[in-house]
Amino acid sequence: MEFENLKTVDSDVYNAIQNEAERERDKIVLIASENYVSPAVLEAQGSIFTNKYAEGYPGRRYYGGCEYADAVENLAINRAKELFGAEHVNIQPHSGTQANMAVYFSFLKPGDTLLGMSLNHGGHLSHGANVNFSGIMFRSVTYGVDKDTGYIDFDEVRRLAVENKPRMIVVGASAYSRTIDFKKFSEIAKEVGAYLLADIAHIAGIIAAGIHPSPIPYAEFVTTTTHKTLRGPRGGMIMCKAEFAKAIDKMIFPGIQGGPLVHVIAAKAVALKEALTPDFRDYQKRIVANAKKLAEELMKRGLKIVSGGTENHLMLVDLTGKNITGKDAEETLDMAGITVNKNSIPYDSRPPAITSGIRLGTPCITTRGMGVTEMAEIAGIISEVLNNHKNPSAISSFREQAKGLCRRFPIYR
Ligand SMILES: *Cc1c(COP(=O)(O)O)cnc(C)c1O
Repeated sequence: MEFENLKTVDSDVYNAIQNEAERERDKIVLIASENYVSPAVLEAQGSIFTNKYAEGYPGRRYYGGCEYADAVENLAINRAKELFGAEHVNIQPHSGTQANMAVYFSFLKPGDTLLGMSLNHGGHLSHGANVNFSGIMFRSVTYGVDKDTGYIDFDEVRRLAVENKPRMIVVGASAYSRTIDFKKFSEIAKEVGAYLLADIAHIAGIIAAGIHPSPIPYAEFVTTTTHKTLRGPRGGMIMCKAEFAKAIDKMIFPGIQGGPLVHVIAAKAVALKEALTPDFRDYQKRIVANAKKLAEELMKRGLKIVSGGTENHLMLVDLTGKNITGKDAEETLDMAGITVNKNSIPYDSRPPAITSGIRLGTPCITTRGMGVTEMAEIAGIISEVLNNHKNPSAISSFREQAKGLCRRFPIYR
């Protein structure tokens, strides 16, 4: 990357960007929540729209000169509506967490009961974790997965809903590898008179491509990030039924945010245009096929996958039988050129800073063009590294293999 001005003005930041570019180029990234955006998305996000204040919404702003900000925001909204079949879209949330915050603050009062998936079982911080505002402000009740199957335990979800009468049920996860039955959740929500919020932050791209069932017909609110499988800039988005549009828009601005990030909204519009193409559909299919293959190849080598496999872009590897913690596995794999994150597994006996698992996802490596053949090779490296984690010279030899693989599949040519 060029950045001639930055190089002159601030060599420290310039160097950090160069180093980051090299890291992204030369390492196999299996972080399930990350992706590489297209050069077009990068250009839009790096554009002069960063200069513009545009508090309010298209056609009703609190600043002059918003005609082009209106243009990109309307493009983003209309494309998102088309892609997901949503009645109303708010494209301004700065992040997935702020999208969730806006939904909660619109329809819940402090102390109301929120039923969400436990962080320890694959849910997200913002679904009621006790260290997060969602667990501090609301009475949080959490459901999890069945200990034997690793699948969401619907008997438990229903029992907790009936017992606790939540005002809102949140469905969605950051580390759950199975198809989510939104219809079943909506039936439980209806039974107890709760709103249903579907948070599709991880699987938005897969849903957009029609590979995973959509929650749009079943949930009053659907939130997402735009930067995970959807492959857009970092940010959030809210979709809802038309009847809730006004309340949601008012809560995002002026409720919890000031001016929108117009450069990010421009980049969201570009990513959503890309997501409407047949190529994107094919790309999402490859993400899922790669994840399935990676899980199979890991299991073939004796590694345990929570729930026995995956139907989306990610999987959790259970390391309890491998004599290594999630933390050590993350560090050792990174030395071998494979970047992952440690992750609690359901019923983990170790704390979140150590864990007994790692989470692996295929969006990044699929974006760079890797396919099922490479999944077998990557599974081989992971397995060898975990088996030889006490042997530094073995680890460094894999670093070259990982780099070679990356060189064959460049990200930004
Ligand atoms: C990633 C994620 C979010 C929020 O992401 P931000 O980091 O706040 O943008 C929300 N919900 C789920 C389920 C997620 O996985």
